[in-house]
Amino acid sequence: MSPFDGDGVWLRCALHAHTTNSDGDLPPRHLVRHYESAGYDVLAITDHWVRTAEPSTKRILVIPSAELNAIAPTREHDAHVVALGLAVDPVLPENEFAPLEQVVAWVAENGGVPYLAHTYWSGLRTEQWWNCPGLVGVEVWNTACELEVGRGDASIHWDEALEHGRTVYALATDDSHRPGFDSGFAWTWVRAHEKTQEAVLEALRTGMFYGSTGPEIRSVAVSDGDVLVHCSPAASVTLYSGRCHGARANAGRLGYAGHSEILERDDRGLITSVRLSRPFKAPYGRVEVADDKGTKAWTNPLWTA
Ligand SMILES: [Zn+2]
Ligand SMILES: [Zn+2]
Repeated sequence: MSPFDGDGVWLRCALHAHTTNSDGDLPPRHLVRHYESAGYDVLAITDHWVRTAEPSTKRILVIPSAELNAIAPTREHDAHVVALGLAVDPVLPENEFAPLEQVVAWVAENGGVPYLAHTYWSGLRTEQWWNCPGLVGVEVWNTACELEVGRGDASIHWDEALEHGRTVYALATDDSHRPGFDSGFAWTWVRAHEKTQEAVLEALRTGMFYGSTGPEIRSVAVSDGDVLVHCSPAASVTLYSGRCHGARANAGRLGYAGHSEILERDDRGLITSVRLSRPFKAPYGRVEVADDKGTKAWTNPLWTA
């Protein structure tokens, strides 16, 4: 199943954001208004060790969530786990944080969907988390980490886990602490049966979404031999599918075609429809669309080994 097949609504979701309940600038009700005005459909408030449960409004569904610390294997690294849809209040440990595996299991047992936040910012090695049972995914993009120190893009970590044979989904989030300055740059388009907390969490558990900082992915069709993508005007469309494999279409002056064929362009020559060749026996495949401003969109893995 892919979010591009079947029925359901597309919901623009902000899945990582802080309020004055931890280290954010706005009180919860103002953060809700902020994301509502910015055109989002869903907001998960993820304060550090606080489950913020602000009421939803007519326009925006608010999902009570939290961000928890954990110790990644080798004990040197503080890992942050976003607990989406957590049903109980977390309790900050008095001494040490628990190991990553325990935190992930606790989140899942208590109704939440666990995603590992900002792996590049945290300095985590992929092998510290790729075998963690119950971990649903990571953040491929975290705006705050990018704006602060340039470590927002964790796509290489994602590829390492996928190539290792681990099915991992990936969100694009703002991780906003200063709304207006570090918000509205990233979102996750969730394909849900309906706009309810249960349906959104189910889609997040099963990879029925894609992340974006700009481009729209309109359809993706996978066959044995290729992947067909329709998207908003793109400077490049790439199929990532393991080391030394893959395909890419490039717009622009020379428009190098790497195992690809551009099927449609807009009047500026940017790509709106493309066929990417699927390498034989590629362990996984995921598509990335980049526009001419440098913003991107990332599908979840279209297949895994
Ligand atoms: Zn964090
Ligand atoms: Zn955060």
